[in-house]
Amino acid sequence: MAQEINDAHGERISFERLVIAVKETLQRAGAAPEVAHTLALNCASCERDGTLSHGVFRVKGYVDSLSRGWADGRAQPRVESVGASFVRVDGANGFAQPALEAAQPQIADALEASGVAVIALRATHHFSALWPDLEPFARRGNIAMAMIASGKLAVVPEGATRPVFSTNPFGYATPVAGHEPAVFDFSTSSMSHGDLQLAAARGETVPPGTGVDGFGQESDDPAEILDGGGIRPFGGHKGALLSFMIETLAAGLTGGSFSFEVDTEAPEGAHTFRTGQLYIVIDPEWGGNGVYPERVRGFIDLLRESGMTRMPGDRRYANRAEAEALGIPVTDHIRQLIG
Ligand code: NDP
Repeated sequence: MAQEINDAHGERISFERLVIAVKETLQRAGAAPEVAHTLALNCASCERDGTLSHGVFRVKGYVDSLSRGWADGRAQPRVESVGASFVRVDGANGFAQPALEAAQPQIADALEASGVAVIALRATHHFSALWPDLEPFARRGNIAMAMIASGKLAVVPEGATRPVFSTNPFGYATPVAGHEPAVFDFSTSSMSHGDLQLAAARGETVPPGTGVDGFGQESDDPAEILDGGGIRPFGGHKGALLSFMIETLAAGLTGGSFSFEVDTEAPEGAHTFRTGQLYIVIDPEWGGNGVYPERVRGFIDLLRESGMTRMPGDRRYANRAEAEALGIPVTDHIRQLIG
């Protein structure tokens, strides 16, 4: 569930200033300037669009992983084109976003040659939302999807006696004629780990079916679910099987770690997870009908007319427009960052 913007201070900060503040913090923790810049853009974009769970709130986690030497902020990704459509990236223990950026020329070549780019990242840490990775592809007219073996074992499918999946997010972006791209991006668990922590901190209960306690019994207590229990996949066996697919593609296929492999590797206090990510980008021109964005626009118009008025991206684009006009609300996390 997306968090509400906390405009407690009534203050605003410009996007550019926030990027600089995050970048400087990450550089002090050991990231190379270009890596710090890429992560700062990602982080500030999340904050600007109201994806606060992956905005400035995450800076401490990046810093902890960088300063412990768990993630390499100076890694040089190795990019290989191993077929007309297949791009392999060894992130060399760096972050996924700079690794994806390093592969952009090979992705463009694959799209040109075959209409499809499969991008397999391994030995990469992904600690953010997926939409910032995907939206630029859709802005360039392509369809894009992404999935992550996200690392922390937290999800117990029905029948299992312990967590075997992470919250395994999946994202999808498509161009829409005459409109911003439609982009959705969510974890495949009934509730994200962050939202469960927030509910526990507030002393709230969670809806039936959210998770189990350490004895495998259904629980509405988020603290029990977090402490030795587990979160359920969303949609019962359907969510579990999506997680299975994501682990097999983002880890099994890429050669990155499965979520079950990473938990024991990270040193105490390191927040990010070195796993794998799979991206698939498609040039819709190759579909042959020449009017893909118009067809999607017509479909979305029909959905809105039918009463499905809330489309993915609507909330983010509204927040972005407001932030561009007024600045980004200064939350407690931003206040701590800028001093
Ligand atoms: P949500 O359940 O909040 O779903 C978010 C998505 O659904 C957004 O695309 C949102 O659009 C869209 N949406 C929300 N409500 C509606 C609605 N009523 N109708 C249509 N679309 C709607 O996501 P989660 O809490 O599961 O995940 C939050 C974030 O956490 C994601 O960005 C995910 O990638 C990230 N994550 C990252 C991990 C990692 O390892 N890097 C691990 C797990 C999660 P809009 O943007 O407009 O609100």
